[in-house]
Amino acid sequence: MNTNRKDNITNFRVERSTDKATGHAADKKSIAVIGAGIIGVNCAVELQTLGFNVTLLDKDNVGEGCSKGNAGHFATEQVFPLAQISLLWQLPKLLLDPLGPMAISPSYFPKAIPWFLKFIGNMTNKNRTKNSAAIKSLNKNAIAYYKTVLEAANAKHLLTTKGSLLVFEDTPLASVTKQYRQYHHAGVPVKLLNREQVLALEPNLNEKIQHALYFTDVGHTSNPHEICMALAEYAKKLGSVFKQFSVTEIKYGDLNVTISDGQTDLVFDQVVIATGAWSKKLLKQLDYKLPIEAERGYSLNLPNTKVNAELTRPVASAERRFIMTPMAHGLRLAGTVEFAGLEKKANMKRADMLYTHAKNMLINIPDFDESNSENKNDNKSDKTEQKWLGFRPSLPDSLPVIGQAPNHKNVYFALGHQHLGLTQGAITGKLIGQIITGQQTDIDISPFCISRFN
Ligand SMILES: Cc1cc2nc3c(=O)[nH]c(=O)nc-3n(C[C@H](O)[C@H](O)[C@H](O)COP(=O)(O)OP(=O)(O)OC[C@H]3O[C@@H](n4cnc5c(N)ncnc54)[C@H](O)[C@@H]3O)c2cc1C
Repeated sequence: MNTNRKDNITNFRVERSTDKATGHAADKKSIAVIGAGIIGVNCAVELQTLGFNVTLLDKDNVGEGCSKGNAGHFATEQVFPLAQISLLWQLPKLLLDPLGPMAISPSYFPKAIPWFLKFIGNMTNKNRTKNSAAIKSLNKNAIAYYKTVLEAANAKHLLTTKGSLLVFEDTPLASVTKQYRQYHHAGVPVKLLNREQVLALEPNLNEKIQHALYFTDVGHTSNPHEICMALAEYAKKLGSVFKQFSVTEIKYGDLNVTISDGQTDLVFDQVVIATGAWSKKLLKQLDYKLPIEAERGYSLNLPNTKVNAELTRPVASAERRFIMTPMAHGLRLAGTVEFAGLEKKANMKRADMLYTHAKNMLINIPDFDESNSENKNDNKSDKTEQKWLGFRPSLPDSLPVIGQAPNHKNVYFALGHQHLGLTQGAITGKLIGQIITGQQTDIDISPFCISRFN
């Protein structure tokens, strides 16, 4: 590594030498992974394992973005794209209800119109079938990839596979059965349970629950932030370096890529952009359009203060559209969708309303001071926070962008994993490794190419 202090340039590239026996370049290529969320840390582990010199960069600390306070659900059953025709008729109502499960800030709505038009375009049967097949291909072995990487990182305790429940309070049985058939038809392992069967699995659910879909093969974690930390630590153990660095500029050269924070230039052989909901500006510099929106979601952490107030697996409510996941600290309530961009202050009333929903579904629930709704009303978070806002990086077709930049051979994208970034993290890391080393990829990656928007 050459550092030129006068010009504030750090060159992570090394001169290439040739291995006499194989004729291959003997030196390791340097690669920057920008973004240390769940996607970036998985890419860093995989690339360092493959022998690259990895520098993991983030404007904050590891895992402080959307990967921190999410619901911790390895939701491999979620194989249907979010764009569905029934949502179309609900949009006007959503616009008018700031505390509904999906809200759109009226002042932000004009900015989100292009995204919504593309979203609506993805509601056709043809697009839904195509997008669902691509999601399925990512989800199919997503947990198996995690098991491997967490085992290697000595962190397999962070993944539990006890399945999850999607519970129904007043949806007619015919409609529940229809949904059951759809999942079954899509190849998702699922059972349809009646109330007694649900309560036998989760005795803390109350008698309002009538039915449930039991997804038997899915998993959850006791702490999604800890997974990021454990994988970043493992990447470090393998030889990678973490650097707090806010990338404001990317300059592309045929032989290298320079990234800058406005003061210091860092030069690498290759770069992976894994900056989640913040990716649009960086990609614009390289002339790629990225119709990404931050689907803002909230979570509320309830500490383990009461006996028998637990659940043993994630329980999602079909009608209330939120999820409760048992975690190391207690119970995490998470969900809701809000379109209001990256800058608008958090509206923690959206986190509070999750408690009202949970109270309606559980026999015992940990105490929580509902009157204190404004106690944490910024976009930042810390370890002790009770309420959290995260920015899901969502593209209108519900598919991420994974692959090489079509016009910049040393730049790769791993971003836009919407509601499924935790679930699809390990397989994304694996695919990025295969793409960069020119191996055959485990699945067809053509649906994830950025060219679909350009
Ligand atoms: C309420 C809620 C519940 C969820 N539940 C689940 C769930 O149960 N299961 C699931 O699979 N998914 C879930 N998700 C979605 C999941 O959290 C995201 O898809 C995932 O965290 C995205 O990971 P990421 O690494 O792409 O983004 P992030 O975790 O946001 O990481 C991106 C990183 O890039 C950094 N960055 C951005 N710009 C720059 C820059 N210019 N320079 C340097 N660094 C930069 C950021 O600081 C950030 O750390 C949930 C999301 C929410 C909001």
